[in-house]
Amino acid sequence: MMTASSSPVRQSSVRAHNLALVLQTVANSADRPSRATISGRTGLTRATVSALVDDLIAGGLLTELDPAPRAGAGRPAAGLALAPDGPAGLGLEINVDYLAACVLDLTGTVRRRFVTHADHRAVPPATALAELGELAATALAAAAADGLRPAGAALAVPGLVTASGLVRVAPNLSWQDVDVPALLRQVPALAGLPVTVDNEANLAALGELRAGGGDPTFLYLSGEVGIGAGLVLDGALYRGARGWSGEIGHVTVYPDGRPCSCGANGCLEQYAGQEAVAADPALAAAALGIALAAVVNLLDIEVIVLGGSYAPAFDRLREGIEAELKRRVLTADLAPVTLRPAILGADAAMLGAADTVVRAVRDNPAAWLTPPG
Ligand SMILES: [Zn+2]
Repeated sequence: MMTASSSPVRQSSVRAHNLALVLQTVANSADRPSRATISGRTGLTRATVSALVDDLIAGGLLTELDPAPRAGAGRPAAGLALAPDGPAGLGLEINVDYLAACVLDLTGTVRRRFVTHADHRAVPPATALAELGELAATALAAAAADGLRPAGAALAVPGLVTASGLVRVAPNLSWQDVDVPALLRQVPALAGLPVTVDNEANLAALGELRAGGGDPTFLYLSGEVGIGAGLVLDGALYRGARGWSGEIGHVTVYPDGRPCSCGANGCLEQYAGQEAVAADPALAAAALGIALAAVVNLLDIEVIVLGGSYAPAFDRLREGIEAELKRRVLTADLAPVTLRPAILGADAAMLGAADTVVRAVRDNPAAWLTPPG
């Protein structure tokens, strides 16, 4: 009689779990662990670890250096490491005034980065996405020349995105109900590659979380032509009930103020979008401080990360934002809010996008070793 534990389905799920465990053990090691070390750290037998390691090496996920009889100077330590020439993530970003693509290898190293500047406000979505497709094709060709194999692509857009990748609205691009995955599939270089789409501030916040600022709870503020926010609570992105949280650009700072593309008046975006920052940094900083004070009062956020075009403008904005926070946050005297520029700078969204692809392979290597179909 076949028991549950010996059924083929159960065995394949145990194998998938153990493959992930071994890969994560290598990824989280400061040095290059040996097979015996992995056995010790995971509790798996040496024979099991060896079989799993062999599969991960064959699949291009791990690389192993044998101990040399006499290690010469500069020779990497023997043991196992994530393969730098295996699966890779393609990160893409479309924004109002630029397109970007990057390739991240399994170790998290940026291997290629491309940015082109052009105004997309009056460009039909299909045209803008075709241009992005060309940039993606260039990035994929460069990755192939490096011996990398793309595991998928993730695209950051400044708008409200559904779980299936439909962009419901991107006000600053004038997009409404754009089926981005369908349009990207028309790009030959991307056909057959899994593509996900997410809000740019969400992806940037995830990128920042994984880049290791050390803060489990923070608000990531993304300043481009529009303004978005990604809220990370206890190490996880908070998406809201329908995945549309973070639209801080449309928080009202002056109720009778400038008209906004969303139809309301006095939205933060009209005072602290990147063009407004360039025109009047003091006014922009004050508007940011007013909006952020509301967030801090409501959510008790300790750390605010300024990203996108705010990262290079950090020194010009800091004082003005802090003055408003000090004035408006009830607890400001008890515990000041920490402001800091994004570790990943202006590239956070596309790096965060590429990282979601790499992270998916690292979390579930079995799916990479045995592709569906
Ligand atoms: Zn608005």
